[in-house]
Amino acid sequence: MATAPITRFAPSPTGRLHLGHAFSALVASRLGGGYRLRIDDIDHTRCRREFTEQIYDDLAFLGLPWRGEPVFQSDRLDRYAQALDRLREMDLVYPCFLTRAELAEVLSAPHEPPTATDVVLSADEAARRAGSGMAPAWRLRTAKALELAESPTWLDLRTGSRRSVDMSAHGDVIVARRDIRTSYHLSVVIDDMIDGVTLVTRGMDLEDSTHVHRLLQAILEIPAPAYYHHDLVCDEDGQRLAKRHDALSISELRQSGLSATEILSYLPDFAESAIISSDCSVFSN
Ligand code: GLU
Repeated sequence: MATAPITRFAPSPTGRLHLGHAFSALVASRLGGGYRLRIDDIDHTRCRREFTEQIYDDLAFLGLPWRGEPVFQSDRLDRYAQALDRLREMDLVYPCFLTRAELAEVLSAPHEPPTATDVVLSADEAARRAGSGMAPAWRLRTAKALELAESPTWLDLRTGSRRSVDMSAHGDVIVARRDIRTSYHLSVVIDDMIDGVTLVTRGMDLEDSTHVHRLLQAILEIPAPAYYHHDLVCDEDGQRLAKRHDALSISELRQSGLSATEILSYLPDFAESAIISSDCSVFSN
């Protein structure tokens, strides 16, 4: 008998849930027969407890309950730090002491930006900044990582094909920010491993990130889930919904008197049967 994949819904409590989030939760729920709820709260400067409470409340109202206890990225900082240490031991990351402004300048230069941004700071200057207590960001040595990983691929359930990891849009991506000592990319890879997620469902806007995640999984020797990137929910002008669309937040829609069924009726059609075959061998690596 086919077993349902383990899915998750992972909102960041930096604002109210909108219809796009509701669709993500719906897809995770349908494909997994339920889902795990993870609160992505590593960016402590932007996350607020009241948004987390509102997330619980909205999901319950919509009839999209999660399974088990919610998990919090802020409880896992040690695990992310261990993964970064491992990458350091393998010499797959390097410290980057560029400030935000310097980085913007490097990236906006008319010539091809250097892949290894450490080349633009002299070793002396980097040492001076380190000595003055400046914490670095840590960047992946992408070329070396790709070589080590030997052409990794990920399973794209949207197209039913295996996709080769393509890092051309990322270069030496930051795997640990200087302020929070981790990054979205590193954290979610570790989270999905800890939570035993076998199918990552999320919006198309995050498809590019999947290349980074799969590469990190390969070099950290972590099992790879399958991926399904769903359509984005757009407003009437065809713009993708963002947190600035407060009027379309679930809480506003609820306050205007809409029922859960009415709110869910705004979401695109989603037929899980189209992508999940009874043969779940696709979920093994
Ligand atoms: N927390 C991320 C967001 O709200 C989603 C993370 C993920 O699904 O990988 O955009």
